[in-house]
Amino acid sequence: MATEAASKPRVQAPKVQNQKMWIGGKWVPSASGKTFATLNPATGQEICQVAEGDKVDVDMAVLAARKAFEEGPWKKMSAAERGRLLNKLADLMEKNLHELAALESLDNGKPLNDAINADLPLSIKAYRYYAGWCDKNHGKTIPVEGDYFCYTKHEPVGVVGQIIPWNFPLLMVAWKWAPALAMGCTVVLKPAEQTPLTALRMGELALEAGIPEGVVNIVPGFGPTAGAAISSHMDIDKVAFTGEGKTGQLVMESAAKSNLKRVSLELGGKSPNVVFADADIDAAVNGAYFGLFFNQGQCCCAGSRLFVEEKIHDAFVEKLVARAKIQQVGDPFDPATTQGPQISQEQMERILSYIDAGNSEGAKMLTGGKRVGDKGYFVQPTIFSGVQDGMKIAREEIFGPVMNILKFKNIDEVIQRGNKTFYGLAAAVWTRDINKAHRMANSLRAGTVWINCYDVFDAAAPFGGFKMSGIGRELGEYALSMYSEVKTVYINLG
Ligand code: ADP
Repeated sequence: MATEAASKPRVQAPKVQNQKMWIGGKWVPSASGKTFATLNPATGQEICQVAEGDKVDVDMAVLAARKAFEEGPWKKMSAAERGRLLNKLADLMEKNLHELAALESLDNGKPLNDAINADLPLSIKAYRYYAGWCDKNHGKTIPVEGDYFCYTKHEPVGVVGQIIPWNFPLLMVAWKWAPALAMGCTVVLKPAEQTPLTALRMGELALEAGIPEGVVNIVPGFGPTAGAAISSHMDIDKVAFTGEGKTGQLVMESAAKSNLKRVSLELGGKSPNVVFADADIDAAVNGAYFGLFFNQGQCCCAGSRLFVEEKIHDAFVEKLVARAKIQQVGDPFDPATTQGPQISQEQMERILSYIDAGNSEGAKMLTGGKRVGDKGYFVQPTIFSGVQDGMKIAREEIFGPVMNILKFKNIDEVIQRGNKTFYGLAAAVWTRDINKAHRMANSLRAGTVWINCYDVFDAAAPFGGFKMSGIGRELGEYALSMYSEVKTVYINLG
């Protein structure tokens, strides 16, 4: 496969100009005039400078979003027309697919092939899926006591603040914007400081699609300044956040202390991936591999605790290590590359320090363990076996290409150990036994359980966490409630 890919022509990384903020349908500099550099993780070099938003800029974006919500054509537009515009945005993403994918690879470091085959199609589908919901947002009629006619309406929650991470920049914009716009909200989005470029381009495309100015506003900047200004803002009605658990707690605290804005959180995980001895072993090896190493291991739902039944443990591990050795780590724009750089120096160092912790706590490192080269932020795919539940690498989210293999003897034990975490985002099970599959799906405390598959996503199916992995569900019909308020109306018929 690698040879076939290597024969494809290499795409040139795009040249990018310095970027401003996107407010009220216009490019504007930050009020302070400050800018920050966004770096290419494959080289560590600056791509361009980006306007650095802060509180004053968030205030300006909220004013634009409030005006668009209260007065603009957006408010008067029919629900069906909103749907048409969301579909138009999806059309424009398709038209500009290669440009968006290249920009995503450049800013994030993910292999261009992944951006083209995963990030873009999934993002486009999210807009199309919610385009369909715009005019199906029904309330109910309720048979109350007395001479009254009672009905409910689902109204937009209002101006929404959205704070997103760097691992899937375009997809996170889609998961946030599509349901919010479908419900008629307006948005102030802060992309991650590491990856502001594709979100900014989406602002322009939204206007080109005919989404009125001020409906989406984008304020690039840092968490404690621009991000905190969003979560504490008195005129933002709801904040949707994806990122680290500790940051999620800060967002929720400041939302509570300001105006009790509604909060939804999609946080981290330490997802158990359980392989029983009766599984299709080759499928499980591939699934376990993909479930951890996809996107450079930078997935909140990564299967980072791989439980393998004792009977097949050694043979399974051998196949997994062989699989890791054919991973092609390198330039995201090289068609042969299957693993790009980590997002930043900071993340790379953090991952290497987890690898040190694994070694010093007595896990057995079977492959990898080192930085690749001295330019950019590349880390070898790394596999530990002999991992114990109490080890740091088995408890904390690593967010990198580090797989931890734990051995288990029976189903009761693995249910108990799989659930022994504060997280509850995802889980997976590999078995041919239907009873075992259902028992595991019922017993694992996680928002998504994959049986004989991993990382399957669909815009129609909800995603989110139990326990400290979050609050609320994104995607599917469930996400609509995060962006709407229910209004009850009584009419006196007497
Ligand atoms: P990660 O470690 O994956 O970067 P973070 O939770 O730090 O995760 O970042 C996710 C998003 O949250 C980013 O857009 C970041 O700028 C933002 N952020 C970080 N700190 C805060 C904060 N105190 N308040 C609001 N947003 C923040």
